[in-house]
Amino acid sequence: MTPRRPIEIVGGGLAGLSLGLALRRAAVPVTIFEAGDYPRHRVCGEFITGLAPATIARLGLAPFLADALHHREVAWFIGSGADGPPARLQKLPSPALGLSRHALDHRLAEAFIAAGGDLRTRTRVADTASDPGRVWATGRRRGQSPWLGLKIHARGLALSRDLELHLGDFAYVGLAPVEDGSVNVCGLFRRRELCAKGAHLLLGYLQAAGLTVLAARLAASALEAASFCAVAAVGFDRHVAAPADHRVCLGDTCARIPPFTGNGMSMAFQSAETALAPLLAYSCGATDWTATCQAIHHALRRRFRLRLATATAVHPFLFHPTRQRLLAALNRAHLLPLRPLYAALH
Ligand SMILES: Cc1cc2nc3c(=O)[nH]c(=O)nc-3n(C[C@H](O)[C@H](O)[C@H](O)COP(=O)(O)OP(=O)(O)OC[C@H]3O[C@@H](n4cnc5c(N)ncnc54)[C@H](O)[C@@H]3O)c2cc1C
Repeated sequence: MTPRRPIEIVGGGLAGLSLGLALRRAAVPVTIFEAGDYPRHRVCGEFITGLAPATIARLGLAPFLADALHHREVAWFIGSGADGPPARLQKLPSPALGLSRHALDHRLAEAFIAAGGDLRTRTRVADTASDPGRVWATGRRRGQSPWLGLKIHARGLALSRDLELHLGDFAYVGLAPVEDGSVNVCGLFRRRELCAKGAHLLLGYLQAAGLTVLAARLAASALEAASFCAVAAVGFDRHVAAPADHRVCLGDTCARIPPFTGNGMSMAFQSAETALAPLLAYSCGATDWTATCQAIHHALRRRFRLRLATATAVHPFLFHPTRQRLLAALNRAHLLPLRPLYAALH
């Protein structure tokens, strides 16, 4: 067999690990550098929408998703009325998958090692000029942003439907059951000066956002302190920007979609899927690195253009109290086009 050029991947999240595994299965030498370790909790709503069977098959993801819950119905709550009926029930065209990042990332990491991949954990790579064969999948880029993401797992928290989405003042929160019987509670909040830590910080943010009924439901459940995590400076992109130098950027490093879509994980997998064939061609010596980077960038732009534009346009309506009232009025008048919106977002 022709010797393969090696690929290095910086970042062992969903994009990096799924790509690394798929390349290893094609006998490409792959090293993944990961700043953290496994298993670990991540700030994530932990429901996956829009992941097509073809992507699952191409990346060989089925064994890792086997015990994911299938969520079909979403209950939307606007403001504090979570003890009343939902403002809107939404039937998803295809089920969303409920699976913890604690399990998913760990499973992918173990499979990558078992496939002969070289996984270097606790290794942070400096962001210098990129070498040929190096792929960047380092997650969200740092920058100024007013948003904060918080998440915790809760036990004994009954939901009114498969998934709940709650809109508060400058906040939205998703409740999604995952494979181990707990409910993942994850919210995006505008930053405030609150003096609390861990679960108390999340409860404080819920109350400050006017989501008092939800805060009380959470306080009455068994919160798993070890699962609490937070992420600051969360930002979103309208399109896939061209990388500064010739480099391949995948997952959140290529573009971040607002989390209400439940589509960021799918995009991480889809970006790995998109990059796979050009990287295999590069590894075999059929193309050079510049052409590989350009091919991947153009394909990602095309694939994600519509959903990024739609999601960033809808996002402010979920946060801002005045726009939420408009949303609620449109909903009451049955003028919310949820189906076409869902199609544009996936
Ligand atoms: C509040 C919130 C809720 C969300 N909810 C959902 C949801 O319900 N459904 C959904 O599909 N998506 C959701 N998302 C988005 C989703 O979490 C991301 O889109 C997804 O994790 C992106 O995967 P990734 O592999 O690109 O990045 P990540 O999963 O972030 O992985 C990047 C990895 O790179 C490592 N790394 C970073 N820098 C370096 C470095 N210099 N050297 C080495 N390693 C490095 C990090 O440690 C990390 O492990 C949410 C996001 C937020 C903020």
